[in-house]
Amino acid sequence: MTLFIDDRRIDCDFKEKIRELSGQNVALCMQCGTCTASCPMSADTEVVPRKLMQLIQLGLREEVLEAPLAWVCASCHTCMARCPRGIDITRVMEAVRQLGLRENVDHVNLSALPAEQLRDLPQIAFVSCFRKLTA
Ligand code: SF4
Ligand code: SF4
Repeated sequence: MTLFIDDRRIDCDFKEKIRELSGQNVALCMQCGTCTASCPMSADTEVVPRKLMQLIQLGLREEVLEAPLAWVCASCHTCMARCPRGIDITRVMEAVRQLGLRENVDHVNLSALPAEQLRDLPQIAFVSCFRKLTA
């Protein structure tokens, strides 16, 4: 991922907003990548946990909210358990989701799902998705 940093796109309050919601100081992150190496979702996302922390540090709100990582995060807490800086990254992911939901964008669109999936998927999966992914 090539990152173009333009000061017009930097939200200086974003890091503080994440801190307010998550209770975590992302500025402590030293970009070691341990979280990324531990994350079961890293292989499937371009913006991995280390990268997300960097984007937050830089105040690139748009890039953070557009990255799918917070939405595919399984809340497994492995990153938190291994972070040498003691950052609870799982809480940071939750804060990113909260900010995303405040944009009033639903990340689950039932009408876009094929009829077979609607019929076959367990109802609990839908309930879980609605709780986590809809505004
Ligand atoms: S493990 Fe902690 S310090 Fe290392 S990159 Fe991830 S958040 Fe930053
Ligand atoms: S809590 Fe989320 S970000 Fe952290 S390792 Fe698990 S899936 Fe990855």
